[in-house]
Amino acid sequence: MRIVFLGPPGAGKGTQAQMLAEHLSIPHISTGEMLRAAVQGGSELGQRVKSYLDSGELVPDEVIIDVIEARLTEADCSHGFLLDGFPRTEPQAAALSAMLKRLSMDLTHVVELEVPEDELIERIRNRGAQGSGRSDDTVEVAKKRLEVYRAQTEPVTTYYETHGGVSKVDGVGDIDQVRQRVLTAVEAK
Ligand code: AMP
Repeated sequence: MRIVFLGPPGAGKGTQAQMLAEHLSIPHISTGEMLRAAVQGGSELGQRVKSYLDSGELVPDEVIIDVIEARLTEADCSHGFLLDGFPRTEPQAAALSAMLKRLSMDLTHVVELEVPEDELIERIRNRGAQGSGRSDDTVEVAKKRLEVYRAQTEPVTTYYETHGGVSKVDGVGDIDQVRQRVLTAVEAK
């Protein structure tokens, strides 16, 4: 299976994406995690992207597209993958379509986790208070990340609605309830 997992910051996307990838035995590819690791490791990529991560802005499309292209051509992706946090803009979605076409692959599922906005801010606030260790888990940066999501990432949903369809999953509830809904949505397709 080749899955794109969409959802606003704070929706629990990372947790659900990881559980689903484990369940399906496919690599969980989180661009946020890859970028945070690059920042922590102090690599050239890390130095380039740190200020974007700290402020809640998106890193430039060409930077992340190169990162994903290198990752998707690794051997463990040949039997499927789950993308978490990519694509984040319409040009990234178009680049992914072109990339998959070159690799003679197709997406099998696009899943979107839906959570109302006031609940998202509250969840990010709690995550920050519990010491998530993420420099962007503050209310101020959370608001910025939501703003960026609305402006730049919501069009990705529209893109997929016209390119194969999106399975929308209610993300309100406890982790297990949401996990069941995600599995049902994936198995239904
Ligand atoms: P995440 O862990 O998915 O919330 O990502 C954390 C941060 O990494 C984002 O706020 C962006 O600065 C950056 N980032 C992650 N994925 C992307 C992407 N596909 N395009 C641009 N920036 C990204």
